[in-house]
Amino acid sequence: MERDGHLESIWQSEVKHYGQKEISPTPNFDVVIAGAGITGITSAIMLQKNGVNCILVEAANMGFGTTGGTTAHLNNFFDKPYYQVIKEFGLDSAKLLAKAAREANDIIKDNINIYQIYCDYSIRNGYMFSLDENQDKELQKIIEGHHQVGIETFKTNVNPFGIPSVRVVEIPNQAQFHPLKYLRILLKEFIHNGGVYIEDCRIISVDKKNETLIATTNKGSIHSRYLIYATHIPPGRNIIHFRNTPYRSYVMAVKLKSGHYPEALGYDLFEPYHYYRTHNIDGEDFLIAGGEDHKTGYVDNASDCFERLESYLRRHFDIENIAYKWSSQFYEPADGLPYIGHLPGNPENVYFATGYSGTGMIFGTLAAKILNDVILKGNSIYEELFLTSRVKPVSGFNNIVKEAADKNNIIESDCTHLHCKVKWNQEEKSWDCPCHGSRFGIDGEVLTGPAVKKLKSLTEA
Ligand SMILES: Cc1cc2nc3c(=O)[nH]c(=O)nc-3n(C[C@H](O)[C@H](O)[C@H](O)COP(=O)(O)OP(=O)(O)OC[C@H]3O[C@@H](n4cnc5c(N)ncnc54)[C@H](O)[C@@H]3O)c2cc1C
Repeated sequence: MERDGHLESIWQSEVKHYGQKEISPTPNFDVVIAGAGITGITSAIMLQKNGVNCILVEAANMGFGTTGGTTAHLNNFFDKPYYQVIKEFGLDSAKLLAKAAREANDIIKDNINIYQIYCDYSIRNGYMFSLDENQDKELQKIIEGHHQVGIETFKTNVNPFGIPSVRVVEIPNQAQFHPLKYLRILLKEFIHNGGVYIEDCRIISVDKKNETLIATTNKGSIHSRYLIYATHIPPGRNIIHFRNTPYRSYVMAVKLKSGHYPEALGYDLFEPYHYYRTHNIDGEDFLIAGGEDHKTGYVDNASDCFERLESYLRRHFDIENIAYKWSSQFYEPADGLPYIGHLPGNPENVYFATGYSGTGMIFGTLAAKILNDVILKGNSIYEELFLTSRVKPVSGFNNIVKEAADKNNIIESDCTHLHCKVKWNQEEKSWDCPCHGSRFGIDGEVLTGPAVKKLKSLTEA
């Protein structure tokens, strides 16, 4: 298995094994990075380029986590609309967020140019469309927010995806790529330039002795000055797990009878929204569409979600066949913005990044830049915006904390993280925890943290 689920995503043929299997005796590094998704690999190459001696360790293989199950739209807007950021964090913060999006997009473009990466990168216009009156009210607020932070957005008459809409707006200069073709080359460059990359190596915990961090892994310990958990959610037990709710989202890559595959990115405004793009792999075009998000472990039958997505898509597209379908996990932060920086309750040089919602290609890249600057310069201009110790009293926060700690979910055994009851996911063949999103394979092995220990067999539980 090369992704944290049974179903194959459209990107997976690019997931290869590149790493070493074993750690050399008593290794000592400047920085240990855990997790070879977009956050970890981007951090590794950036720090290395700046002269830092890094080791990247991955519990499974490159792209095993959500980066292997993403849809890889590259946007300058996020799931939390700018108008809401303005309302809750202020206009200056919203403008800083827009600047951060620009910077992360530029980092991706620069990497593609510097390392000559053929990853099907292409600039595309984004289209948001409202399908009823309520969605239209939301769209108008989104347009207003975009204008306030300087993101070009204008009305247009045509929805390139052909879905009849109340209003359509165009947001120029978005982009898309093949996420694993991009990361595969960055990882190869990292190794080629002397970086150490170990696969099947899970960090279990970290302690500090004098000035040295000692990371305990299933393959021995690693010494370093800094540690970055680029693990999508940090492992172990942490307050951060109560500020981020795990969700699953469903995706299909379909062939269309019309043969018409719009060169555009698309988003409606349902809650949860549908998202669209197209992609050509080995000469074949696909429409890639996703949606039907729900809290992890909160549906009885994941196949219902695929059925709903399929029937919705069939209403709007002449589908010939469904070539791929898969689901994947993301984390919804309590106040809508990610947490990037010091990991609460840990030694001062332990960092992490999480809470990217459905926009982690950009936030993961940005996290690499922020943590790079914090480690090398002692600060980042974006540090305050994503402060990991913040508790913002915004609507919904109390619900999220309550949901994450819902006592009704807690029983004596099952999930090895905080003993919530795990739920069987028939589609991805995994045991999913509704509390903090840990997931386990059919054999009980950890697929997704924060759990670090294998599930007891059901007969033992
Ligand atoms: C269906 C779906 C569609 C999406 N579409 C988009 C999109 O179009 N655009 C966008 O910007 N974002 C999108 N996102 C979000 C984005 O894909 C994610 O936010 C992003 O991939 C997260 O990357 P990551 O590197 O932080 O985590 P991951 O990719 O999950 O990588 C974490 C890695 O850490 C490893 N690991 C875990 N624990 C340990 C440990 N203790 N020790 C060592 N290794 C460990 C895992 O095996 C994994 O490989 C989407 C998300 C979903 C679910």
